[in-house]
Amino acid sequence: MDELLRKLRKINGKGYKSYQILKGSYEFPNFTLFIDRVQGDPFASPSNIRIRIPQKVARFPAETFSSRSREVALRDFLTRVLYEEARKHSRKAGSGYSGLMRVEKPSQKILERNSAFANEKWIEVRFRVGLPAQGRRILAAEAERIFTERIPKIAAALRFKNLDREKVYEHIKTAEDADFLRSLLPSLNLIAFVADGSILPRKSGIDERPLENAIPFESPPSLRVSVELPNRGEIAGMGIRKGVTLIVGGGYHGKSTLLKALEAGIYNHIPGDGREFVVTNPAAVKIRAEDGRRIEKVDISAFISDLPFGQDTRTFSTENASGSTSQAANIIEAIEAGAEVLLIDEDTSATNFMIRDFRMQELVPKEIEPITPFIDRVRQLYERGVSTVIVMGGSGDYFDVADAVICMINYKPHDFTDKAKLIAEKSKLRKKEVPEDFKELKPRIPLLEIKSRGDRIKISVKGKRTILFGRELIDLSFVEQIFEVQQTRAIAYAIKKAMKYMDGERTLKEVVDAVMGEIRKKGLDILAPLTEFAEFRALELAAAINRMRSLRCLLKESK
Ligand code: ADP
Ligand code: MG
Repeated sequence: MDELLRKLRKINGKGYKSYQILKGSYEFPNFTLFIDRVQGDPFASPSNIRIRIPQKVARFPAETFSSRSREVALRDFLTRVLYEEARKHSRKAGSGYSGLMRVEKPSQKILERNSAFANEKWIEVRFRVGLPAQGRRILAAEAERIFTERIPKIAAALRFKNLDREKVYEHIKTAEDADFLRSLLPSLNLIAFVADGSILPRKSGIDERPLENAIPFESPPSLRVSVELPNRGEIAGMGIRKGVTLIVGGGYHGKSTLLKALEAGIYNHIPGDGREFVVTNPAAVKIRAEDGRRIEKVDISAFISDLPFGQDTRTFSTENASGSTSQAANIIEAIEAGAEVLLIDEDTSATNFMIRDFRMQELVPKEIEPITPFIDRVRQLYERGVSTVIVMGGSGDYFDVADAVICMINYKPHDFTDKAKLIAEKSKLRKKEVPEDFKELKPRIPLLEIKSRGDRIKISVKGKRTILFGRELIDLSFVEQIFEVQQTRAIAYAIKKAMKYMDGERTLKEVVDAVMGEIRKKGLDILAPLTEFAEFRALELAAAINRMRSLRCLLKESK
């Protein structure tokens, strides 16, 4: 610490470049300070700082990070404390980012993050600090205050005894219970579980916090399942079984809200979120129409064939997909990447992709209709192990193919399966044109031709929806299960990693799995140094690659 202060005094008033001599590590009374990167000027992205507090000071009981679930949750918790502390001690003093301290704001999801770590030896947090300057002249006194007053305060706040002990335990136990619950789903033959008392609606489309005074979720008795959780004990809620589940009900009665909660249930939620015990099969994928997207050699023939001008749909490519072709490609790509559950909402689907009613079947003969609607394939998909949950308030055609029909009335679910089946029996309005089973899907072998200057691919991520990769813009607006920019950034760097595995032999799934395997083994840090990341799924990495305009694919021929 004295060395750091000596250096600081030496460079006071000098040009900003002199800050570079601070790079290195310094022993403070209660922690080690690492200055890993020093920004080039006061307006550049703030410097990367790490503090490591030995456990003999931090004193986290081993049980707070003893299992994978707990460790991830504790690190998530520490990131949240760090976020608040950095905000509290951030003080603009000088030009540009001078005096600012920050870490990115976590969403309501408990995710693995590389902003905090915990083990038997120490805890470590990482954040950004704008080293202070007036114009380009170093303000050493201000920097000294940051290093000797504010950062030690942040370090002190992170000691176990200074945290709200109850809150720490609630956080890790909630995550542990939710992970346990999710792991139980297969043995219960379920694809999702929604606990009684859950609060599903959010404050607004841009505010993920729970809606106040919302009506708590309450399972219909016939779908209620009870499970025993390690911390919380017994808990009851609605089980959604494997198969085809329909969510019906009047407009504005909470159908889409329930589906959104299932989409989010692939991750754990912080205590107080309302969705702590809404868990979904981790390979559940939201499927929607996405007209305008690019498609590269996807076999959409199960849904679309005989396009005008004889366009091939077994290896369908387009720079500008329609609603139905994009939705078909989204399904096939999701299955290729390992999806086990499809989540579909009528609000964001192409109608002609979802249904073709009796009258339309009469008017437009099958011979000139290229689309085999999803309704005719949904059971065949289930036979291949892919379950579906569909929100469909506008058509009863799906009664014929559903295993369960949940009707939302005033935000409460009712089991209308028997009623719907009775109606389907009474009025066989649909022609049964169940088509032949669809052909085996050939895995694709991806190749990326990135335009960039030299070897270095510049990666830039502004919000959670777009990645600038080299000169290419990747639009993830409709990849709805990305919840934070920290995830988007990780996906961006993971694409770069994935390119290493694209050897003209590996399939897209193999490429993506190789990257995920590397992350699992060595952590998110392998994606890039000094960059803030949160975990993401193989499915979203594949989705990002699939949306790249420079993606080229070969088809893997079966032997
Ligand atoms: P639907 O898809 O059936 O038309 P939505 O799910 O979009 O309906 O919900 C309509 C509105 O009701 C939304 O503004 C949503 O936030 C609100 N809402 C949903 N569930 C609840 C609930 N349990 N309590 C209170 N409001 C809710
Ligand atoms: Mg809706």
